[in-house]
Order: sequence, then structure tokens, then C-alpha cells
Amino acid sequence: MSERYLPGATIGVMGGGQLGRMFAIAARRMGYRVEVFTPEEDSPAGQFADLTRIADYTNEAAVRRFAGDVDVITFEFENIPIETVEWCAHEREVRPAGAILHIAQNRLREKNFLASAGVPLAPFRAVRSAHELASAMEQIGRPAILKTAAFGYDGKGQQTINAREDFDEIWSASSADELVLEGAIDFEKELSIIVARGPDGAMATFPTCENIHRNHILDLTVVPARVHESVEREAAQLACGIAEKLELVGLLAVEMFLKGSGELLVNELAPRPHNSGHWTIEACATSQFEQQVRAVCGLPLGATEILRPAAMANLLGDVWQGGEPDWGKALALEGVHLHLYGKSEPRPRRKMGHLTAFGANADEAIARVTKARSELNPAAK
Ligand code: AMP
Repeated sequence: MSERYLPGATIGVMGGGQLGRMFAIAARRMGYRVEVFTPEEDSPAGQFADLTRIADYTNEAAVRRFAGDVDVITFEFENIPIETVEWCAHEREVRPAGAILHIAQNRLREKNFLASAGVPLAPFRAVRSAHELASAMEQIGRPAILKTAAFGYDGKGQQTINAREDFDEIWSASSADELVLEGAIDFEKELSIIVARGPDGAMATFPTCENIHRNHILDLTVVPARVHESVEREAAQLACGIAEKLELVGLLAVEMFLKGSGELLVNELAPRPHNSGHWTIEACATSQFEQQVRAVCGLPLGATEILRPAAMANLLGDVWQGGEPDWGKALALEGVHLHLYGKSEPRPRRKMGHLTAFGANADEAIARVTKARSELNPAAK
């Protein structure tokens, strides 16, 4: 199979969300055709694709028809059934490979993989019964965080355990049959780094992002991260080591905790573009989405330096609480850019779009982007 797919080729994207949307914009700009596979009508990615195939991920005939129709396949979210990816892989190359997606779909598999690769992690234990929960608590101590092993994102399926609690009750309240108990890390900052790796093994890391979460959901990202350059270097080394070990072709986002001691612990992996990399569209030499196109298609990777300090603020459905946001007010501020994902229903906690703002430095960029967001809807919290 050819390792290089040149402009004019058709890239198949599994998933119809905003990451697929921004990928489709980048790919079509570069002269590729984009076909999206999603169960959703009028999806954020479908709105920018040449063609959308609307069918369930479990519809094997539809998946195979889609795969046969494109030249190479990538995905834009993790929770695609692994059999679906295997059907695709019978027809066409899938980048990143299904085996990487399989690891990232389950926290326990991911943590075991990272631990075996010698990557520093928060202490963790698998929990498959109330009894295992009790003994994991003994070993890890309080406070600890209990997470579902599968299908968790943005803090869904997570709870903090602080005091002595009834483990039978916690276990029976959980509908999952596999959980992970993690030591709660007293971190100084949350960071992420995105690495791209091509089929020839070439790698490029984007600058480290500093992330601020609210209610377990990413709220703000700022670059350059306000950390010592040795932390940047170590984060890049960790990410490259993981990408190599996975034999990645595509993008990998690595979320990390930075402790006061300077130690970095890896929290999570995502083998795709990442919410914390959206600032790259305006403020980096190459956007993460163009880089995904380049890596997946086997083209040379683009330069990754920051063009100017920037901050990104997510717009959740909550911003619509008091009615339609006042876009004009936010965009009247200097250096502010708006991205909306084409979702019609602004539900609370749903990612509807984001703002990016520039500044002379990281602090100024944060001040601008938060001011712009607060101008949108002064009534929203
Ligand atoms: P996750 O779904 O694992 O990415 O977690 C979402 C957010 O919850 C993280 O970005 C942190 O803000 C917080 N969190 C998750 N795990 C831990 C941990 N072990 N210690 C402290 N905070 C955590």
C-alpha cells in the first residue's frame, strides 16, 4: 500500500464532530476530498465535507462502502467501536492504526501501556468489585479519583473520594464493570502537548499548552505555557517517546500534570487533534489540523513555532443561557477570532465553539480572551 496520499486523494474521516470539521477545512484547503462517516444528520464535520455517509458505526456494509470509496482513513474521536475500525482497515489504511485507538479507548489499557513504557503516572489500581475498591483505597490513600475505564471524557464518569465512604454503595451506583482508582494529584498546572509522527518516523511537537479546567472540562488554553523551558523539553521528550513506542502515524495529544516539584505525570492520551491545540489555527506556523493531514497523508510535517502568544477559551452551551450571545461585542475587541461548530442545540456543558485571542504575552492573551467571552453574555456564569 502506498504510504503517501497526495492532494486530490480522498481522506475518509470517522466521526462528525468539531475536530473533523476543522480537519475537513484544512484538508479541503490543501486540495483533498473529504468523506465523513457519522450517524449524525447535519454534523459539524459533515457541513464541511465533500460527502457525508450517515449510518450507524455498527452497520458493516455501510462502513465497508465508505472505506472502499476513500484512499486513506483517519478518525476524529475515540469512541468508535474497534470492530468498525477493523472493517475499515480491511479496505484501506487507517492512520493512526486501530491498535492505538484500542489502547486509548480504555483508561486501564492506556495506563498499563504507559506504565510498561516507563512513563510517569499518578498511582492507579484497577477496580472490578467493591472489595477491590476498598483495597485500592487502602493502597492509594485519600483523596482519590474514581473513573470509569471506558467511554469517559471531560470528567464524565468521575468522582472524587475524600472521606471514608461506603464502597459497596459506590460500586453498586456505578453502571460500569471496570473502574480505575487514581491518586488525586496536587498539581501546579495542567499541560498538554501534541506530537505528530509521519509514516517515515519523522516527528514534530507543538509547543506545550497550559490548560485551565473548569468542572473537569477544558476552559482555557494559553501559549506559551508559563513554565520553565526544561519542563517544555521534558514534555516534548515524553510525547515523542510515547509516539514512537506506539509507532504512531498521525497526531497524539498527551495531557499531563505538572507538580510543584517540577515532576510531570501523564494523565491521558488522545490519538487525534486536541481541544487544547485549537489556538494553532491562528497562532502557529502550521495548525494541528493541517499537521494531521500532513502526517496521515505522509507529507513532510510543517513547522510548529508559535507566531504570537495566544489564548483559547471554550464556548460551552452555557454561554447561550441568557439568549443568543452578542458576537459583535466580542469581535469588536482587538485580536479576537471566533469559531463556531455548527451545532444547533446549545446544551449546558456541550462544546459549541471557541474564541482565540492574541496578546503581547500569555497573561495579556488570557485577559483578552476571557474579556471577549464575558462580553458575549454578561448573564452567563
Ligand atoms: P480526565 O477525564 O482524566 O482528563 O480528567 C478531567 C480533569 O479532571 C483533568 O483535566 C483534571 O483537571 C482532573 N483530574 C483528573 N484526574 C486527576 C487526578 N488524578 N488528580 C487531580 N485531578 C485530576
